[in-house]
Amino acid sequence: MSAVVIDGFAVAASVRARVAESVTALKSRSITPCLAVVLVGEDPASVSYVSGKEKALAEVGMTDRSIRLPATASESELLALVATLNGDPSVHGILVQLPLPKHINEARVIMAIDPAKDVDGFHPVNVGNMVIDRPCFLPCTPHGVLVLLREAGIVTSGAHAVIVGRSNIVGKPLSILLARRDCNCTVTLCHTGTRDLPSISRQADILIAALGKPRVITADMIRPGAAVIDVGVNRVEDATAKKGFRLVGDVDFVPACEVASFITPVPRGVGPMTIAMLMENTLLAAKRASGLE
Ligand code: NAP
Repeated sequence: MSAVVIDGFAVAASVRARVAESVTALKSRSITPCLAVVLVGEDPASVSYVSGKEKALAEVGMTDRSIRLPATASESELLALVATLNGDPSVHGILVQLPLPKHINEARVIMAIDPAKDVDGFHPVNVGNMVIDRPCFLPCTPHGVLVLLREAGIVTSGAHAVIVGRSNIVGKPLSILLARRDCNCTVTLCHTGTRDLPSISRQADILIAALGKPRVITADMIRPGAAVIDVGVNRVEDATAKKGFRLVGDVDFVPACEVASFITPVPRGVGPMTIAMLMENTLLAAKRASGLE
């Protein structure tokens, strides 16, 4: 078997194109969606994620309010900035790039963001509303995974979805979303305490890898014919690459292609979807702030 490789880049481009059309329509009513992107420090991966987000904002016609703070910025400085952005009606969404330097309490910063501007969907108000199926901002990566499954035509209803990784930003919310009636999956959520992971992952119709370890999910852990979604983004050294490293997923891609029915690549799989869903959330925030949604 050779798996169909899901082109996340193409799906993300079509989401962004739809968002761009809506932005044009909003602009005709003198509303320009604006996202404040806050980066503290210069972590190379974060710098690269933030520049991808800023590029996408420009592409869909939104305003990008980029704010850079030095790694030495204090928690109170960051909280004061968040408070200013909360109170600024021209800012519709606020994104504080994670991880933050160790001396800053991430949870406190997330809690400080106005839930109506929390386009990452990390604030407890949005998480709680997601759990009970009320209007909220869905977290971008899990939402992107749902859109990829839908666009690839993968049947979720009745499927057994096994997720490896229980983080607050990927695995845990994905388990909630896949179990909702609109997806209708039976969900198993795995982590480092899971006994005999291969025996569980081999039961998956849909296997989602979100553990953050390069190529840990090997072909023998995949049920023949399963759909495999690889959320992982890991830098591995590669002397032949221009930057000295390359990106690989949590799945051992080439052998997995021989077993799976569908698979997402890394890069150009889930990553571009995360950014596309961020654009969609920012659009939604602008519409809600203007009483249009
Ligand atoms: P995280 O916070 O580090 O969480 C990793 C999770 O995986 C934890 O729940 C951990 O279990 C579990 N885990 C780790 N090793 C395991 C193993 N050998 N067996 C079973 N479970 C294991 O990671 P994250 O923030 O969710 O990110 C996961 C990956 O996705 C990373 O590579 C990250 O870069 C990537 N990511 C990609 C996007 C994107 O847009 N493509 C967005 C976000 C994250 P415990 O809870 O027991 O420790």
